[in-house]
Amino acid sequence: MKKILILNLLIIFLISCQQQRSINDMDSIAEEYVKLVLEVGQYDPVVIDAYHGPEEWKPSELSEEEKLNFPMDKLIQASDKLLHLITHFSETGLSESERMRRLFLEKHIIALRAKIQMIGGKKFSFEEEARLLYDAEILRYDQQYFIDALTSLENLLPGKGNIGERWNEFRSKFVIPQEKLDTVFSTAIEEGRKRTLRYIKLPDEENFLVEYVKNEPWGAYNWYKGNSFSVIQVNTDLPVYIDRAVDLASHEGYPGHHVFNALLEQNLLVKNGWMEFSVYPLFSPMSLIAEGTANYGIEVAFPGKERIDYEKNVLFPLAGLDASQAEKYYKILDEVNKLSFARNEGARRYYSGEFDREQLIDWLMKYRLSTRERAEKSVDFIDKYGSYIINYNYGLQLCREYIERKCGTIENPAKRWELFKQLISNPYVPSALK
Ligand SMILES: [Zn+2]
Repeated sequence: MKKILILNLLIIFLISCQQQRSINDMDSIAEEYVKLVLEVGQYDPVVIDAYHGPEEWKPSELSEEEKLNFPMDKLIQASDKLLHLITHFSETGLSESERMRRLFLEKHIIALRAKIQMIGGKKFSFEEEARLLYDAEILRYDQQYFIDALTSLENLLPGKGNIGERWNEFRSKFVIPQEKLDTVFSTAIEEGRKRTLRYIKLPDEENFLVEYVKNEPWGAYNWYKGNSFSVIQVNTDLPVYIDRAVDLASHEGYPGHHVFNALLEQNLLVKNGWMEFSVYPLFSPMSLIAEGTANYGIEVAFPGKERIDYEKNVLFPLAGLDASQAEKYYKILDEVNKLSFARNEGARRYYSGEFDREQLIDWLMKYRLSTRERAEKSVDFIDKYGSYIINYNYGLQLCREYIERKCGTIENPAKRWELFKQLISNPYVPSALK
């Protein structure tokens, strides 16, 4: 009897040693992965969106000359080695969250490898790039889809003639005057914070700073600095419409990027010591979940009619805009937003060589109803960030469908917030949400 007990104890001890060893191995893969991201980031500064890991993990600064000699083969070899280790990593004895971690690392190493190839000059098709970098299988849309969506706008918009011109003319009445932008935006972001805090506990020290900038290809950006602190920049190159106040406040702040980064840091980096969460590689599956949840977070924080009521009562008066048109504005905007996939489709054709820059601008003006200025900005964004654009609309669709499939619907707000929080606190990858 005693012998059996000792044998059992020995087996338990051996299993736990085995588990301990495999977890440690995953830690060392994670460390190598972070160091490789940092190394690749030296050749292309856009690669790393945020890093708040150990200072000594950073490689020593390269000279300008060294930066021109991209060591693609060496970096590919390093990523292949990591990919081999993580794909052959046994899941036996791993908990559910450790399995998620393994898959997260695998998908992120695949993305890093593809990015290394791209820096080295490789050009993927739009779909292939989206699959490798963002773990996304995107759909194609034919022209007829957008023509049909435009038809439903025909009767909603005032006036006659070109739909894009009519939309932009109507929309021009909803621009936030420059001098009121900060008041309106700060109010919206505080409201987003208040609504988020009802459902999500955030670290006590969490905070943010808002800055207004110019000459950027994006509308707004969250620069996460670590320790639950974000710098949110709003670009004022182009007119900022009233709907953007709640959009940007939720997307960049609460419950969007700021909360996403703070929760991943708190739950995975600080609590678990998972070092892969000390770095944020921009061109990676993390971005799809980040942008998808940030966009979905807008309707989670301001569901259905609540948004229009809040805007009519608070933001429209603050901006000095006529609130009697708010319902009509949002009804049309909902229809216009259905055209968002026109940007993906235009970019796909731009990648394949079917469109040049000018043809893509024309396409965006026609099917995305952009002004020429906005279409040009959009092409600048595509030139810099490529298929990243799919993270906004495809990401939104994927996150929304995932949460609603699990009963996190508008009728069930507590459940919706709970699933939302889970999604932004764990190592999810896009293909796991299907
Ligand atoms: Zn974003």
